[in-house]
Amino acid sequence: MRTLLIAGNWKMNAGPTEAKELADGMVAARQGKDDSSDILICPPFISIPAVAESFSGSHLKVGAQNVHTEDNGAFTGETSTSMLNDTGCEYVIVGHSERREYFHEDDALIAQKAKKVLTDDLKVIVCVGEKLEDRKSGNHENIVRTQVKAVLDHVDANNADNFVIAYEPVWAIGTGETATPEQAQEMHQFIRSLLADAWGEDEAEKIRILYGGSMKPANAEELLSQTDVDGGLIGGASLKAESFSDIIDIAE
Ligand code: 13P
Repeated sequence: MRTLLIAGNWKMNAGPTEAKELADGMVAARQGKDDSSDILICPPFISIPAVAESFSGSHLKVGAQNVHTEDNGAFTGETSTSMLNDTGCEYVIVGHSERREYFHEDDALIAQKAKKVLTDDLKVIVCVGEKLEDRKSGNHENIVRTQVKAVLDHVDANNADNFVIAYEPVWAIGTGETATPEQAQEMHQFIRSLLADAWGEDEAEKIRILYGGSMKPANAEELLSQTDVDGGLIGGASLKAESFSDIIDIAE
């Protein structure tokens, strides 16, 4: 069975001071709980050390929201995998729809980032998802197929253990609107079939596919109970220790 992954993406929220308080709140909320799910928070780069310090000695893990493809050098404003390894990060999100939209990241760059993350012994969470117009026109599977295949063409099955996909329909992010459990299951199953085509059934069965887009305590149960939904990538509801912890309780 796949271990669920409940991941918070704080986006551009919580500088080091606020991040430490929030992270301490999460540690307190999970204290004494024998969580079987993996629990992850991805704060802004500058707050990673504060969160890592807060999480040390607990079962909560820290990750990053983005990374560059090079090790170091003249890339003003960028952060490398070796720097992330140095701060205790275990996971890196790549290809979030906000990176695609506002920072013009394309499938080729996202594939390069995913490969770099895996090469340097971090786990990658590759985000995919269609926009509203694609969903309305019935083109959602084609869009997601292109996004997934672009990455699978550059990553081989040996990396399956460190590979996570997050399906985040763009129309559900920060809108309060979620995919229905049926829509989520249908797309997750489709993504798993793409993984099976590339890496074989056995490997595909091991890979976690998270749902993201307005997940909160009120809808987590029905989403997480779907066969191919292996956790959540949570934005807004991960910015409160209580609601994030409530989602973990539902996952358990
Ligand atoms: P919300 O949970 O705020 O909709 O954000 C989802 C998301 O983008 C997580 O990466």
